[in-house]
Amino acid sequence: MIIYRLVCSSGHEFEGWFTNSAVFDEQAAKHVLDCPVCGDTDVTKAIMAPAIGKSTERPPEPSVQNAQPDHGKIRQFMAGYRKFIEANAEYVGTKFPEEARKIHYGEAEERHIYGESTLKEARELVEEGVEIAPVPPDPEDLN
Ligand SMILES: [Zn+2]
Repeated sequence: MIIYRLVCSSGHEFEGWFTNSAVFDEQAAKHVLDCPVCGDTDVTKAIMAPAIGKSTERPPEPSVQNAQPDHGKIRQFMAGYRKFIEANAEYVGTKFPEEARKIHYGEAEERHIYGESTLKEARELVEEGVEIAPVPPDPEDLN
């Protein structure tokens, strides 16, 4: 199944489910799709909203293949990201919240660190304005 974000000529957006892109094209051409708000049958695909971030930039419409999440690629990305962190940051273990705070307030040498923190600790750091980001899980752990 493919989910398309659709838009009618009056600008109402809604979702449509199709078995494949050809089905959408066929139904759109025959004007059998209608807007749930105003019943307009002049329905086109809306540009997909970005999945992350608040950017107002509109990304190109994903192709049908890209519409399916590629778990292999996501894993590869996460593994690469982890490697980068492990190679460029110092592991401080459970002292992470303490160290992150010290660096933020200039009480410790400015450097990249990574380690463990609870969700509560992470939230407190963010509230204090300390820049932190979650490290993706080790892909091996996902099996
Ligand atoms: Zn409409």
